[in-house]
Amino acid sequence: MPLHALQAVYAHMSDALMTDAILVTGFVLIGLGFYFLFEPERRPSLRAALGHVFPRDLFLHRTSRVDILHFFLAIGLWIPVVSALITAFLTMNVQSVLTGWFGARAPLVEAGWAIGIAQFAVIFVSRDFGTYVGHILLHKVPYLWSIHRTHHSAEVLTFFTSARAHPLEYLHAQSFIAVFGALGGGVFLYLTGTSLAAAPVAILIAVGIFFETFGLAQHSHLPISFGKLDYVILAPVLHQIHHSAEPRHRDKNLGGQLSVFDWLFGTIYVPQGREAYRWGLNDRELGENNPHVRLRDFYFEPAAHAWRLLTRRG
Ligand SMILES: [Zn+2]
Ligand SMILES: [Zn+2]
Repeated sequence: MPLHALQAVYAHMSDALMTDAILVTGFVLIGLGFYFLFEPERRPSLRAALGHVFPRDLFLHRTSRVDILHFFLAIGLWIPVVSALITAFLTMNVQSVLTGWFGARAPLVEAGWAIGIAQFAVIFVSRDFGTYVGHILLHKVPYLWSIHRTHHSAEVLTFFTSARAHPLEYLHAQSFIAVFGALGGGVFLYLTGTSLAAAPVAILIAVGIFFETFGLAQHSHLPISFGKLDYVILAPVLHQIHHSAEPRHRDKNLGGQLSVFDWLFGTIYVPQGREAYRWGLNDRELGENNPHVRLRDFYFEPAAHAWRLLTRRG
């Protein structure tokens, strides 16, 4: 491999590592803040707080090994940045296709910061709707469930679990996010006769990084809730329910960053206080019967699961 290619890979990896360092630091701050502000049995020491945010037994659990390995494998994907740039590129394409079909439109408003914020908001909400729709399909289409089961077989949640997704699921989820974001954004740009400014894309990247940090908190054991804001944002306490092995929680809280679509379409489940439940796939596939404890099973068991579905039907 030529030297400059190696340098490019190194630069990319160090940027990706930097992004991940920001994410993990953000998670530590959120965790410590939660402990000192809201944990009823807190002790006023940093050691106790760190022990609460990083409980050894969760990180040493047998399903955590896959999460940790996969977290480091996934670092190179550098998702928040790449994902925002792909959406921006496709958004401009959708706008130019619409312009080709229906003719150019005069600008409705003068370019300015307000239109930049509006562009960001429309693309952000459209992308999150894409996450929601893609996630429903992962649960309801049997062959997609074969893939998504790997995310749900975690029996403990640590921030590493946020990266516990099969490579095909990354592809599926990011496609829905990009296509929905581009359709929402492209139609909005066309109707307002404005072009995509650099600021909304930069905000999208920044907010993407913020919400990746938030995704780490969603996959922790810390029952963080934002009170009334839970009507808009899918707080960690709501996503933790999504990982429950209990039938009453099945297919609930499917949103990504926003909870509004769960409220709108009736898939919300708000826990009553500190509700007791187990994390994992279901009653049968816990503990010794967990199908995804080893990394190679995590990657290849979905194919076997899909094959069993196919042959049972055929
Ligand atoms: Zn799910
Ligand atoms: Zn999850």
